[in-house]
Amino acid sequence: LSVSGDSIRRRFLEFYASRGHKILPSSPLVPDDPTVLLTIAGMLQFKPIFLGKVPRQVARATTSQKCIRTNDVENVGKTSRHQTFFEMLGNFSFGDYFKREAINWAWELSTKEFMLPPENLWISVFEDDDETFSIWHDELGVPAERIKRMGAEDNFWTSGVTGPCGPCSEIYYDFHPQRGYSDMDLNDDSRFIEFYNLVFMQYNKKDDGSLEPLKQMNIDTGLGLERVARILQKVDNNYETDLIYPIMEKVSELAMIPYAEAEEHIKTNFKIIGDHIRAVVYLLSDGVFPSNIGRGYVVRRLIRRTVRIGRLLGIKGDCKGNIEGAFLPAIAEKVIELSTQIDSDVKSRAPRILEELKREELRFVQTLERGEKLLDQLLAEALLSSKEDGNSPCLSGKNAFLLYDTFGFPVEITVEVAEERGVSIDLNGFDIEMENQRRQSQAAHNTVKLAVGDTSELTESVSDTEFLGYNTLSARAIIKG
Ligand code: ATP
Ligand code: MG
Ligand code: MG
Ligand code: MG
Repeated sequence: LSVSGDSIRRRFLEFYASRGHKILPSSPLVPDDPTVLLTIAGMLQFKPIFLGKVPRQVARATTSQKCIRTNDVENVGKTSRHQTFFEMLGNFSFGDYFKREAINWAWELSTKEFMLPPENLWISVFEDDDETFSIWHDELGVPAERIKRMGAEDNFWTSGVTGPCGPCSEIYYDFHPQRGYSDMDLNDDSRFIEFYNLVFMQYNKKDDGSLEPLKQMNIDTGLGLERVARILQKVDNNYETDLIYPIMEKVSELAMIPYAEAEEHIKTNFKIIGDHIRAVVYLLSDGVFPSNIGRGYVVRRLIRRTVRIGRLLGIKGDCKGNIEGAFLPAIAEKVIELSTQIDSDVKSRAPRILEELKREELRFVQTLERGEKLLDQLLAEALLSSKEDGNSPCLSGKNAFLLYDTFGFPVEITVEVAEERGVSIDLNGFDIEMENQRRQSQAAHNTVKLAVGDTSELTESVSDTEFLGYNTLSARAIIKG
């Protein structure tokens, strides 16, 4: 039984193809939809069909969709299950089959095709969805103890602020069934992993928040490829599957730190690079280039975070002896080599992708180096005045903000470097400066949270904006109008 990522994808698509689903290609990461910044799920390309705006071409479809979720950026490397970039397998019904078939096939796929032991599977259903509970329990025999009723946060799926939505039911894999039934938190990463979400698309959420029933009942599902690979390949996290591990191996080679021997925080850094560089390659391939606004800003933020972490890992220059060179292209080449049918253009677009990466990396390194000089000076001053007044050395919020605002110097780098020299940072003061600046130019500024669905403001203000800086701690983009 082959369990490579590629074979899991193929088996999923074939399973649904043999049940009357047409295999359709992944849509690009840039959706044809002004309410969503990036493609966050397989259903986006079908939204107009769900809403009844365009007629369906087929009644059933199945896809492998590349997705980006910037709202998970802080989870990357911290939980074992989240990336910013992942592949979502899905089966869809456009007013054709509904709950019963969707649930039965999901169960059959999980327990027969992927041979997951039924006793390791837990189910979530929307709190008052008795019909779904009963299909799992009475028809498929899942014990009631392993079916959790959960609230809207987990079990009512919406693609954005508005749009098609509905109650959902999810399948979780239990890595430690011996812990028994009293351990209830399905979001506990050390025990469970959610891998399949079945959404019963039956409403359209309107601007005023009200739910309008759709003309037809639809099915939208999402199964995380890396998550299933992680379960079937019996590794500790999504990053150690064959879909991502070779990228981390490349990073570990450049950093000259063997992955297996690395300390946990170093492994986290490998994981962040392994994820981000993948996201960036596919974004660049879809024509999203670094800029200071909107989608381009997402790419820029991911690239900069990767560069900084690479430097923390001790990667210098291009690792081929050129200290002025860039290392991202070497890692990106591995991503391109691993690329599959979710983007068949990645390989032909490789030269442009590598060129953009190199340019952006070198530009950011300059920023970092310039900032580092000023930081050195400011830290020396802080140490000196502490000697004079006897207080413990502290860098003012004003100075941390100066570095951030003028040099685009990420505040967490300031914190790290300062800590190394025994200097603390007035982060409260920093936040106050940030807030002041924001308030001062309220009319011209928009603060945009780069999160799922939260993008309407962003796309509207895209035309005339200017970069101010970024703050990876709060994953905020400051957009100046
Ligand atoms: P979680 O609760 O673990 O954050 P979710 O409920 O947000 O997941 P859904 O919106 O239901 O996820 O997406 C459908 C499926 O896509 C999930 O069941 C999971 O398998 C996969 N998935 C979602 N987010 C990620 C991610 N950040 N990285 C990898 N796979 C993901
Ligand atoms: Mg999530
Ligand atoms: Mg969930
Ligand atoms: Mg879910």
